[in-house]
Amino acid sequence: FKGLKQNHPKVYENLMNEIKRQNEHIELIASENFVSEDILEALGSPLNNKYAEGYPGKRYYGGCEYVDVIEDIARDKMCELFGADHANVQPHAGANANLGVYLAVLKPGDTVLGMNLSEGGHLTHGSPVNISGLYFNFEAYGLDSETETIDYDEVERKAKECKPKLIVAGASAYPRIIDFKRFREICDEVGAYLMVDMAHIAGLVAAGLHPSPIPYADFVTTTTHKTLRGPRGGAILCKAEHAKAIDKAIFPGLQGGPLEHVIAGKAVCFEEALKPEFKSYQEQVLKNAQALAEELTNGGMRLISGGTDNHLILADVTTFGLTGKEAEALLHAVNITCNKNTIPNEKNSPFVTSGIRLGTPAMTTRGLKEDDFRLIGKLIIQTLKKERDPEEIKKEVLELNSRFPLYK
Ligand code: PLP
Repeated sequence: FKGLKQNHPKVYENLMNEIKRQNEHIELIASENFVSEDILEALGSPLNNKYAEGYPGKRYYGGCEYVDVIEDIARDKMCELFGADHANVQPHAGANANLGVYLAVLKPGDTVLGMNLSEGGHLTHGSPVNISGLYFNFEAYGLDSETETIDYDEVERKAKECKPKLIVAGASAYPRIIDFKRFREICDEVGAYLMVDMAHIAGLVAAGLHPSPIPYADFVTTTTHKTLRGPRGGAILCKAEHAKAIDKAIFPGLQGGPLEHVIAGKAVCFEEALKPEFKSYQEQVLKNAQALAEELTNGGMRLISGGTDNHLILADVTTFGLTGKEAEALLHAVNITCNKNTIPNEKNSPFVTSGIRLGTPAMTTRGLKEDDFRLIGKLIIQTLKKERDPEEIKKEVLELNSRFPLYK
């Protein structure tokens, strides 16, 4: 970063601070990860300079012969990775990928059935402050109050009632396996399209460790930067019959020029995910989540749905007399990063909440194994129960992080 240091000292200083922060904190935000240096190279490359509106072979600009090859690699590798007919790798973000599907199949005012935001769904699944909720008539399904898992009978009942044109499955804070086959059956009963937003679990799906939505969904959207461990961005997979409509919805419907440097990063991400090491990584993500869940439960924490099947844990911190906001702040003070999160039957506002969400993908990338996650579980409990001096806990966190350096 020599140029930045010399010419843009304030940017340089804060970049250095952020690298230090990433190194010295235990990163448990379930939607974050650390990309490879190959992906960082692609992201910081002169591919950034190229305008390439359109698609490979059909661009509105000259000089696209090399970015065409790169975008084709990304599309082909993504189809190979997930066994899909068609991939669009241009969405700038997960939000754009979802909006792209809505634009392809819906008209303003059409009815859509999606998961309740406060029970695990995403902003783009119909929140009243998001364009999804503002332009379309979203109805919501939620969790069974006893099991705290998706109430598929309720999904079916609601679908029969509101006759949606589209049903959205997928979540931001759901620790259990999602039954895509059941969603398909419900869609078929009411004549709805099925869109699966697999943003959180894409890496697990790629590794064959979560059932794939591909055989069941008309459209599958994802981010590329969560469990998939690629650059920040989105992508859409669909059946061949919808390929044209999806491509048209993303460009010219929703976006202008694609980010070819990010698309190169996506190509690298999909190539990495096709390697056997990626499967071992995802297996470790799951083992680490089990170890962390066990330790937290032993420490008296109530986990939503009683545990986890995937990479994330949703914990109720009210048993410790805390709000989610307070728990997040206490953990931040000992260099453990996570986010406050609403839980089923939430009593507090989304700015306060009663829970925290914890994920294992990022620290698993750094090389941590089950014993390390058991230690993290102990440190979380000690912090939230205020059993030890936070400075002492922070020292242990720093020691643990120093054994797993991030980037050379
Ligand atoms: N879909 C789900 C399920 C998510 O969890 C997220 C992000 O957290 C998104 C979509 C949106 O992704 P982005 O932040 O890239 O727009």
